[in-house]
Amino acid sequence: MAFTVGEVLRRARDALRDADIDGAALDARLLVAASLAIDPSRLPLESDRAVSDADLARAMALIDRRARREPVGRILGTREFWGLSFRLSPETLEPRPDTETLIEAVLSWLDAAGRRHDRLSIADIGTGSGAILVALLSECPQALGIGTDLSQAALQTARDNAARAGVGDRALFARMDHGDALGGGLDLVLSNPPYIRHDDLAGLAPEVRWFDPRLALDGGPDGLRSYRHIAATVGATLRPGGMVMVEVGADQAGDVEEIFRATGFEFAFRRRDLGGHDRVVAMQHHVV
Ligand code: GLN
Repeated sequence: MAFTVGEVLRRARDALRDADIDGAALDARLLVAASLAIDPSRLPLESDRAVSDADLARAMALIDRRARREPVGRILGTREFWGLSFRLSPETLEPRPDTETLIEAVLSWLDAAGRRHDRLSIADIGTGSGAILVALLSECPQALGIGTDLSQAALQTARDNAARAGVGDRALFARMDHGDALGGGLDLVLSNPPYIRHDDLAGLAPEVRWFDPRLALDGGPDGLRSYRHIAATVGATLRPGGMVMVEVGADQAGDVEEIFRATGFEFAFRRRDLGGHDRVVAMQHHVV
């Protein structure tokens, strides 16, 4: 006898609870809905519908992946960020809600200066899925952007995401170490660099440790290696008065500000994430 949608959903949820997955009910809904090709919001309406054996097998295969700690976004292949859908690949970090703080910081700074509609040039260092650059280009209609990454596969995913969001004609993606091969004259350089202390990697949740790329997480012995690299090289790429805004780990804002001050930047502002941690540091290139 065939199972109903409601029964599959219960089985899926119980399997995820047994595997100690936080948010088991929500993840079960998302994965079952995806494997049955129905919108999650319609699940209650379809509760009594019979599910074919093939669909049941497909749903339980996705549930099994989640039980083994693969994040829902990786299983589905896409993740929402700033209201846009981003494809993921094994070489891209899964965009986090924390990183939306960086987008908010940029937009409030631009809006305060009345510059959101200017022809801005923006770079995103270590662009990964392209989330930061693509989100900003979608908000700043005249801006042009370049995303850099060490990983060719990540750059390809980022290009694809820019095209999907309709900003592909204003985005360029190029392989380089940090921003080392960028030209000059940029208004804004952004980055969510790897900032986890090397020794802390082993203590991260399995979803992060096993599925996010190590290159996007490992910030070296003190977690600050990428900030030092950026601070030492980014000055030459910015206009006078240009701004660098970076995401930082929960306890890193002071150290990161110090690193940029030491290379001639001035403190502009910090911004907190929803959890109350200083998450973004904005530093201004000295005005000549
Ligand atoms: N925010 C990520 C985490 O805590 C780390 C991302 C990064 O290193 N830039 O898992």
